Amino acid sequence: MIIYGSRAKQISKIQLMDKCSNCGMDNRIDLYVFQKYAHVFWIPFFPIGKTAVSQCDHCKQSLEPKEMPPGLMASYKEAKKTIKSPFWMFSGLALLAILITVIVVNDKKKQDKNAQLVLTPKAGDLLEIKTPERQYTLYKIDQINGDSVLFRVHNYETNKLSGLRELKEKGETGFSTEQFAIHKNELKAWFDKGELIDIERN
Ligand SMILES: [Zn+2]
Repeated sequence: MIIYGSRAKQISKIQLMDKCSNCGMDNRIDLYVFQKYAHVFWIPFFPIGKTAVSQCDHCKQSLEPKEMPPGLMASYKEAKKTIKSPFWMFSGLALLAILITVIVVNDKKKQDKNAQLVLTPKAGDLLEIKTPERQYTLYKIDQINGDSVLFRVHNYETNKLSGLRELKEKGETGFSTEQFAIHKNELKAWFDKGELIDIERN
């Protein structure tokens, strides 16, 4: 379950001299400006607009923006333009950007490494395969014979990439005894087509 919502934080207090519409006194009116922000699990994600409350210093009447007389409203609108949203309200977005960058960089590293491994297959390599039917399974390389790669296919397929873990847990018994052979170049072709999605080498 993802907990999310919006909260508000006071970001400014402005003291104005104006006539109060309630008590009629020409005196100080405090304008409290709030910044609303979206949060996910209480981590501020991004700002979502401002709001304000005014309070007469004399009669203590407080007004929300929709109740403010034109003069007060104008002061609030002016204040909204100049008061910036605090940077910490973007924390979630910043974290997300960092996380995505890390994932993208790691994925690139893995792809680069696999691009090397696929050119030099070795006995014991475990290949993660995506079938044309969008199923996932494992192949295991038994032997390299010149340009031929001898491998066995796992007995099971799974419809989720994460399901491969279960297949791995079955160990050696999960693989068929029948052996297949392909040319090394074929392995590279599988990788380029995205059918060979990962290579595990111990
Ligand atoms: Zn007043």
